[in-house]
Amino acid sequence: MSRVAEGWTQRCVGCGKVYGDDVRSYVCAKCSNLLELVKDSPVSKTGLYGESTQPGIWRYRKALPIEPDVKAVSLSEGHTPLVLVSRIGAKFGLKGLHVKNEGQNPSGSFKDRGMTVAVTRAVQGGSKLLICASTGNTAASMAAYAARAGVTAMVTVPAGKVASGKLAQVYAYGAKIIRVEGDFDAALAITLKVAGEIKELSVMNSVNPYRIEGQKTNAYEIYEQLGFKVPDYIVLPVGNAGNISAIWKGFKELKEWGISSSLPKMVAVQAAGAQPIVEAIQHGRDSVVAVQPKTIASAINIGNPASWKKALAAIRDSKGTALAVTDEETIAARMDLASSEGIFVEPASAVPIAAVKKLMGKIERDATVVCICTGNGLKDQESVKVHLDSTPLIASPEQMVSLLAKTA
Ligand SMILES: *Cc1c(COP(=O)(O)O)cnc(C)c1O
Repeated sequence: MSRVAEGWTQRCVGCGKVYGDDVRSYVCAKCSNLLELVKDSPVSKTGLYGESTQPGIWRYRKALPIEPDVKAVSLSEGHTPLVLVSRIGAKFGLKGLHVKNEGQNPSGSFKDRGMTVAVTRAVQGGSKLLICASTGNTAASMAAYAARAGVTAMVTVPAGKVASGKLAQVYAYGAKIIRVEGDFDAALAITLKVAGEIKELSVMNSVNPYRIEGQKTNAYEIYEQLGFKVPDYIVLPVGNAGNISAIWKGFKELKEWGISSSLPKMVAVQAAGAQPIVEAIQHGRDSVVAVQPKTIASAINIGNPASWKKALAAIRDSKGTALAVTDEETIAARMDLASSEGIFVEPASAVPIAAVKKLMGKIERDATVVCICTGNGLKDQESVKVHLDSTPLIASPEQMVSLLAKTA
């Protein structure tokens, strides 16, 4: 296994044990907790933002645990739009509601931020066969980057539970698809077990700490896009809980490195049918009790989140909160965001909007709120009913004119 890059320490988030080499299983041999990569010395503001003109996450190379001479496997990920959504904000009584539109990434979700780093690292170490368990987007992203790198991708997905747009991507990018009976948690458990025994397989799930490092760049971008200002709230969907851990790490680094002077409150949103993190927060528990997940928001249809420990810390340390929204609220929020702002997201990405609506009156009117809208709406068309049969069908200009007369 490759040595951890110079200037970086890899350690266990539970007992703090330090690992000088990449760890194949990504867990601590002593206490089974996940590992994290920590930069030993601060990066300056000009070091982080100033020197590179390259757009996207590799611009932040000084804050990534990849040696400077290694060629990145990149599709120009990151630099996604931060959009002030005033019309929907006004409905919720908020002046500063923003959407970070992560659906604009190369494969259509934020997963690309972490995947470019994890695949770069795996290929650097000589991996030829990448594997992940996925509710769809991790698979689509990994398959894209594997294609870019010229290596083989193999994905395990819960049978019958992945949006068709995501599967179409995985297939087109040329990955091998294995369906697993059960839900995502079963697919992940099988994948980690088999990868533990077959050393040719490199796991690209978010237990891989290099994923987290790429995903944290979202915090750097948001800070810059707000005019070097930390938002008051980050509201985001939580499934396996890698992203909340990553974005929180990014904001903490900005503060620890003396670049920013405050931290956002992290608001974790889950679906009512898959809310183990919300329950742990609401009952003040120190760990998460796994549940049987059931939600149409397939990207967060996860009952046993791998990064639960990091997520609980992010919510508690930031004085944030966690709440659940129903599938009905999610669908309504998705339609509302699309029809009032022109931003079409997949169901999981609409849960932060539904949550902000639910928190109406609790968030200060002047607060800067950033909803992380994690994935593109085109990926998941199943849950939007297109009522084509009830739309007019014409064959002549006259018919169109008479229709227009009726609508005018
Ligand atoms: C992966 C994913 C999530 C959940 O992110 P976690 O890091 O697993 O918490 C949310 N939304 C979309 C669209 C995703 O692809």
